[in-house]
This record gives sequence, structure tokens and C-alpha cells, in this order.
Amino acid sequence: MNIVFLDRDGTVIIDPPDERVDKESKIKLFPDSIKALAYLAGHNFAVIFITNQAGIAEGRLNLDGFQRIHGKVLEMLAPSGVKVLETYVCPHSPNDGCDCHKPKPTLLLQAARDFKIDLAGSYMIGDRQSDVLAGVNAGMKTILVKTANVPVTSAEADYTAPNLLDAVKYVVNN
Ligand SMILES: [Mg+2]
Repeated sequence: MNIVFLDRDGTVIIDPPDERVDKESKIKLFPDSIKALAYLAGHNFAVIFITNQAGIAEGRLNLDGFQRIHGKVLEMLAPSGVKVLETYVCPHSPNDGCDCHKPKPTLLLQAARDFKIDLAGSYMIGDRQSDVLAGVNAGMKTILVKTANVPVTSAEADYTAPNLLDAVKYVVNN
């Protein structure tokens, strides 16, 4: 089985204007998220989520709250049939000086160790330059999806996709 690494907020679910998915009512899938994940599942790909959750450091939600909300996200994605192997979370703020906040590659490297994944042959997909750089820093191939709630470009991404479905098709066909 192949693995794709995905950012969550702004990539699979719509990033709210305040960029904090801190309650269940703020979970909104993109229109093509289920189709995209089903496409991956149909081509024998599983996914791992790598997500920065600065809202935890800010006290907007605690880790339990995050897990409850994330459980709801996984429930909403279940109809796609995709296997989510694991979700790795950075609970810190970008200013905390932690080791795990993307663009640092720490969580990607940890996932590779945990699941014995060849990172050089794997893709990281996300809506921000920090996702692309985390992938680059981990020695991976990267795709920027243009689904952030702000304009984002990346000179470092191997491919820029208009949406997640286009991104996963690129992964499967490359
Ligand atoms: Mg994002």
C-alpha cells in the first residue's frame, strides 16, 4: 500500500476565516474531498494527516477537544473508504520554538519511522508554503493545493493543483 501525507485544514476541510477549527460546527469538507479520498483508496493509497493546531497552544481547544473534532472529521470522511493510518498533530504555536511545527519535517520523519515509509517516493499535499517546505525538508515530493483561504504560491512545490482531486490524480499518475 502507498501512502499520501495530507495537511487537514485548508486541504481536506475548508479553513475557516480565523484558521481555527475549534468546534464541530466549523467542520466543512471541500466539495471534492470525498471523491479525492475515494480516488486514493481505489488506487491502493492510504493517508496520514500532518496538522498544525496552534489553537491548542492558544487555549481555544485542548488536545481532547481536538481529538473529538478530528474524530468527527474522520467520520465525515469515512464514506470515501480511505484508510487513515494516523494523524500527527503539532499542538504548539509557531512562536513556541517547538520541534514539530510545519515547516519542520519532524512529524513526517516520525511517521516514516512508525510506518516504514520511503519518504523520497511519497507526496506531501497541503495548502500552505509551510506544508510544501515540511515535505521538502523531509526529502519528499510536494503538491500545493490552491484551496487556502488566502492566496498562496510556492516555487518549491513539484506541482500546484487547483483542488484536492486534481492533486491526488497527479499523485496516482506520477
Ligand atoms: Mg492547511
